[in-house]
Amino acid sequence: MKLRVLFFSILFSVALFTGNAQTSTQEAMLAKIRDEGFRNSKAMEMVSYLTDVYGQRLTGTREYLAAAKWISEEMKKTGLQNVHFEKYCNSCRGWQLESFNVEMVAPNYMHIEAYPLVMSKSSNGIVTGEVVHIESISDMNSVRQTFGGKLKGKVILYGKAPQKQSLDDKLSRRFSEDELHEKEKQLTAKNKQTPLPELLKSWETDDFSDDEFLRFAEAEGALAILKTRAIHLGILHPQGTYYYKNGDLMPLPYFTIMPEHFGRLARMLQLNVTPKIRLNLETSFYHEPENNVNILGELTGTDPKLKSETVLVGAHFDSWHSGTGATDNGANSVILIEALRILKEIGFTPKRTIRIGLWEGEEQAFIGSVDYGKAHFGALDKKPNKASTKVSAYLNLDNGSGAIRGLYLQNNEYARPALKKIFNSVSDLTEGTLTIENTLSTDHETFDHYNIPSFQFIQDPLEYNTATHHTQLDVLEYVREDDIMKNAVILAWTLYSISELDQKIPRKTK
Ligand SMILES: [Zn+2]
Repeated sequence: MKLRVLFFSILFSVALFTGNAQTSTQEAMLAKIRDEGFRNSKAMEMVSYLTDVYGQRLTGTREYLAAAKWISEEMKKTGLQNVHFEKYCNSCRGWQLESFNVEMVAPNYMHIEAYPLVMSKSSNGIVTGEVVHIESISDMNSVRQTFGGKLKGKVILYGKAPQKQSLDDKLSRRFSEDELHEKEKQLTAKNKQTPLPELLKSWETDDFSDDEFLRFAEAEGALAILKTRAIHLGILHPQGTYYYKNGDLMPLPYFTIMPEHFGRLARMLQLNVTPKIRLNLETSFYHEPENNVNILGELTGTDPKLKSETVLVGAHFDSWHSGTGATDNGANSVILIEALRILKEIGFTPKRTIRIGLWEGEEQAFIGSVDYGKAHFGALDKKPNKASTKVSAYLNLDNGSGAIRGLYLQNNEYARPALKKIFNSVSDLTEGTLTIENTLSTDHETFDHYNIPSFQFIQDPLEYNTATHHTQLDVLEYVREDDIMKNAVILAWTLYSISELDQKIPRKTK
């Protein structure tokens, strides 16, 4: 009896010990990650240097390459292995903005808040012209009939005057508990995901909806086009154009202007007063394919059986040009590096390789990540190759600089249990909401195409959709240190956990 009790108690102790040993390794690792991430965070310092010193990182430009070189040095300094560039897009071109100014000079003076759209060509020095309003270009035949022969020497105000808004509309927000709960309990994904080849094809026309108009305006001798996009009063939104390849159109001077200034010009025309605009724009084009690089780096796996497998984590490193790309997507690019710095600093050697990809060309048509996909996982119209099956998961960060609140499962229900366990351990840092929802329009769609379990983090919106996304306000002031520090810790923990799992993250059935 005694012996039996003793025998069982030995068995019980062994079981308990084994269970505890595993848990305590994980607990100890989490404590180290938190300690390093919160006590010695380098995240804010890095985002500040990247955005304040290097500034905008438009695809194909010298500024992008300069920032890429700097961040790859940072990656090397933190001890990441295999840090290198992978070239893509030989035909992508660069564009330099050198100087510009837009003013109303009659009937009286107003300095116009403006920003040129990328790839606009220079004006012919300082030019002055009267304003003509073209409200819609949906029927180009009618535009040709109405305005043919009437645009020479004119400045075109293009589009409808924006609706008035109030400045006290709430600009910054976080997800409420209720919203997260709603996302979590969703049974099916509401967003339909278009297959990648179809999506890329659709952009070849959708992104060029004003092409005929731009060609017409120039042929007619117009001086420039002014448009606006009212995401909010006072904010400039110079998104587009998408002419990024050699030989593409170089549009005539094309500016976005502040909604209120657009409104005033349009209202004056309705009152039969014709304003005059004086403007200049100096830009240059160049072809330097060496500026087109994705940036890779890793903590190489060490487990004899698992080291050929990878956990991929990505963010796009390119930006639009009027801000410094702090919230889109500088902060998230840095978080990737900070997460791996934390893991390296605490002496973690992963079983699987943890690889970072900083993509260029996301703002154009995911061209950086798509090219990486083609180079490593095969042509888009073929069955994914064997290498794609070695990737346990792809995680993407590209929803601004707000706190991580969970993950979009991208219709992969099979991944939920493993990810739930991972998030449960950091429940004081994030709700870890797992929603079946598809989220769209960034690089995880590339990896999803190859049937790699691909997820994008849910992040608090803050001012992303109301003020900073692709605007001149995309600057460091809108990045919160506490949020990005916490995000790096959550990411480090997630990467550590996935790299150590016995199994890869389950794939969805297509
Ligand atoms: Zn982005």
